[in-house]
Amino acid sequence: MALRTGGSALRLGFDVGGTKVALALGDEAGGVLGRQRIAFPGTGRPRDDVGQMLEAARALLAKHGATFADLAGVGLALPGPMDAEAGRVLSPPNLPGWHDVAIADWVAEATGAPVATENDADAAALAEWRHGAARGAEHAVFLTMSTGVGAGLVLGGRVHRGRAGAGEVGHAPVEWEGEACACGLRGCLEAYVGGAAWARRLRRLAPDGGRVVELAGSKGAVTPEHLVAAAGEGDPFALAELERWNTYLARGIAWIEMALSPDVVVLGTIARAAADLCLGPVRRLVAEQTWGLGGGPRIVAGELGDDLPDRAALAVAEFAVERAAAS
Ligand SMILES: [Zn+2]
Repeated sequence: MALRTGGSALRLGFDVGGTKVALALGDEAGGVLGRQRIAFPGTGRPRDDVGQMLEAARALLAKHGATFADLAGVGLALPGPMDAEAGRVLSPPNLPGWHDVAIADWVAEATGAPVATENDADAAALAEWRHGAARGAEHAVFLTMSTGVGAGLVLGGRVHRGRAGAGEVGHAPVEWEGEACACGLRGCLEAYVGGAAWARRLRRLAPDGGRVVELAGSKGAVTPEHLVAAAGEGDPFALAELERWNTYLARGIAWIEMALSPDVVVLGTIARAAADLCLGPVRRLVAEQTWGLGGGPRIVAGELGDDLPDRAALAVAEFAVERAAAS
């Protein structure tokens, strides 16, 4: 199959999640021309799921008077576990029926364009490195703390994938014999700062009649967002919980600093929402737990916000364009 490498300027990105797929159309200069969200098809048949995603892409391109023939590259940001080098999704828990799916080949066959894939944390790291808070850094770590906790690593200007998928810092131990983690181990960073683990803890401990429960409507509905909002109002329970969260997050970042010595650690999700209450204490705690050679890493909140899924998928598409041009 001949791949186009010149003359076509558009980039297409898919950020594939268990509930929705974010599609984005970008230009050569890094601008986002159009975007669309569809529900993840979830037919249980990967071919059909990908077929529906490609149909949505065809429609998005048509809105801009373009077709697959106008694409210089396609990027896929995908949930792990996956083999980014081979463009295969292995068996992500949140994509039912997807077992060893050669998605990059399928998309390349359908579009005729070069295709690159990355796991979603690495794609987010690439996006913050190209367009956001890690711009200009040689070594950048993007730490996401949504349901799970993971890191995307851009080291020496390249995504670092390691032997079998690097960046699983959510399962670095921050406590011996600590809280049980969804992975089966105990004391993992994710069991303390992951959104799902934290929500479970808050639903158990948030005081009845307190501000957190009041904001959530009921104890069973409490999420970290309510906690962050209550902490912003000075609620004592919320502030104490956030202090605990900062403490464990700092332990995780200290571990990253000692292992990798990055220029910058970019914090997504919860830390971005709670930046005012989080960044100062976390910077101080990390400095206390590391040697800070060369001044320590910059610890900052992500800049891309709601644009992150689009930017992440387009950053991977840009990688597909560059790789095709170099080969
Ligand atoms: Zn774990």
